[in-house]
Amino acid sequence: MERIESDVLVVGGGVAGCVAAVRAREAGASVVVVDKTRDLCRTGDAGHGVAFLTAYLDSGPSWDTPEAFAEWYCNSADGLVDMEVAAEVAVAPLPACVELLESCGVGLRDPQTGEHVRVQRMWTPGPIVARFDGSDLKPRLTERALAAGATTIGGVHVSSIMAASGGVTGAVGFDIRSGEHRVFAAPAVIVAAGNAERVMYNSPRRDPFNTYHRPYHGATGFALAARAGSGATSLEFLGSFLFPRGFATGAMGNLLEAGGRLVNAHGETVADRPTRPNEREFGFGVVAQAAREVLAGRGPLFLDCTGVGRAELDNVMSYVTFDAPLFPEFLDQSGIDLSRDLLEMEFFTGTWSATCSPKGVVVDRRCGAGLPGLFVAGDLATPAYALAGALTTGYVAGHAAAEHARDAGRVTLDTDALAAEHERLTAPLRRRNGPTWQEFERELQDTMTRYVGLSRSADGLRQALACLIGFADAAGNLRIANGHELARAEEAIDLHFFDQMMAAAALERDESRFGFLMGHYRSDCPVPDDARWKGVATIVHHDGTGPSVARHVFNPTWRDEQLAAAGGA
Ligand SMILES: Cc1cc2nc3c(=O)[nH]c(=O)nc-3n(C[C@H](O)[C@H](O)[C@H](O)COP(=O)(O)OP(=O)(O)OC[C@H]3O[C@@H](n4cnc5c(N)ncnc54)[C@H](O)[C@@H]3O)c2cc1C
Repeated sequence: MERIESDVLVVGGGVAGCVAAVRAREAGASVVVVDKTRDLCRTGDAGHGVAFLTAYLDSGPSWDTPEAFAEWYCNSADGLVDMEVAAEVAVAPLPACVELLESCGVGLRDPQTGEHVRVQRMWTPGPIVARFDGSDLKPRLTERALAAGATTIGGVHVSSIMAASGGVTGAVGFDIRSGEHRVFAAPAVIVAAGNAERVMYNSPRRDPFNTYHRPYHGATGFALAARAGSGATSLEFLGSFLFPRGFATGAMGNLLEAGGRLVNAHGETVADRPTRPNEREFGFGVVAQAAREVLAGRGPLFLDCTGVGRAELDNVMSYVTFDAPLFPEFLDQSGIDLSRDLLEMEFFTGTWSATCSPKGVVVDRRCGAGLPGLFVAGDLATPAYALAGALTTGYVAGHAAAEHARDAGRVTLDTDALAAEHERLTAPLRRRNGPTWQEFERELQDTMTRYVGLSRSADGLRQALACLIGFADAAGNLRIANGHELARAEEAIDLHFFDQMMAAAALERDESRFGFLMGHYRSDCPVPDDARWKGVATIVHHDGTGPSVARHVFNPTWRDEQLAAAGGA
């Protein structure tokens, strides 16, 4: 088995992984970045472009300060994040991250004016969102990591974290084509493997026209961290979006902001542009309202931009293509002219974190995830949020991991544990019977969509957990034909792990609550229960035999303030 040594191993070469690599190199560590995609330049969510960076720039106005940003963050996260951690890993590093991007040649400023283009989005208290052409952001960050001296290895799926004597010693992976095993020895490992996807039926794999999500996203990062003992919080929340029917892509928010309306099957307005500036509730309201319409049987929903005007529509199209390049082509091929036709929308329930989402692996102020030497960054970490959070948590984790590696010194890998992992990974190739990964993943998605999807109840969630626990035999008996199928089988096994954690969290939270672009609707407890739940997070652990959930109050003082405010409202 090939053995690769470094001070810091980064699992996942998306935005967070690349920034972490740059920072760890700057701190003097040797760094290996491993990604299951071969071409790291275009891997990850930002691989095909981004259009917005949510960040304060401290340019003078009161809405543009770190304090205002933290307050907005805190409100958006609905009391479910540790604000002491968020302040250090999500707020403080933003200026340095903006500087890093600009030094990589990412054009955050308007080339004509040399100024940042700042816009107010539906959910922000001021124009704290920089709009820019981020189509080449990911290649530039990858090049920066390489220039800093990081080694990148593509086409390798990491299947487990190795640990001994209470600390990280490395990881094991395999080539996604040949199945050949790779052993990584490192005293610090940063897991930056992105968010959980493919959990529900309307996942990228099921919908080949889903151009928004990456089909290779599973839930490996959550499973790797959970198996190493880390907890994950707020997994019960579904990330929810409205996409054009049959062609998942972004842009709905931009079109609503430009003056579009979301209407139901009867033509009644479900949501439109806020009439008051800073109407923060609007951003929260769209998804909650859309979900209510669908649950009440008043779907399908349509986007009506007929009143927007051609010039404004052209303006929106000029920048949505930075991160949704195929949207104009989809409209064209479908014969849809937004100034004339309604666009049917589909309610998409996924599991991503969104801006200020509280969900993810619980991290401390250095992005440490419980086990010494284990760090988590990017979409996977709470409190990361979108591009900004991937940058900032990568920034913090990279430096902290380098410091840890310096103090920890050389590691020794446990040869028995390596042999056991080798045996586990080769067993499916020798099996003649057992389900395929496709059959297994389909069962998982059907179960999750039916019982842990948009509408949940205690009975349904118990049923889901019983099914998922019953699937354990299948998970341990998948049969595969080659190295590539091994990667898919491992992803399905990790989805199974994640699904149990998500269902358990959803069962524990016996109330309904909507936050920013995310919701948890319990048909048996349809209203929010502030007294029991406001500011109370679920934290799930999984010891390999099953999930366990605990409630946790991250910031008692903050929670009291929220309760007082809710009581006075
Ligand atoms: C189409 C699109 C447009 C977006 N536009 C914006 C925007 O304009 N503004 C904004 O703020 N946010 C935007 N976002 C969100 C933002 O891009 C993401 O939050 C951010 O890029 C996440 O980075 P990450 O490094 O945490 O994860 P990812 O980019 O998901 O990277 C994770 C990497 O880990 C690798 N990986 C996973 N598992 C393994 C494994 N087991 N072994 C090895 N490698 C593994 C994956 O291949 C992947 O490359 C957009 C997202 C999408 C999908």
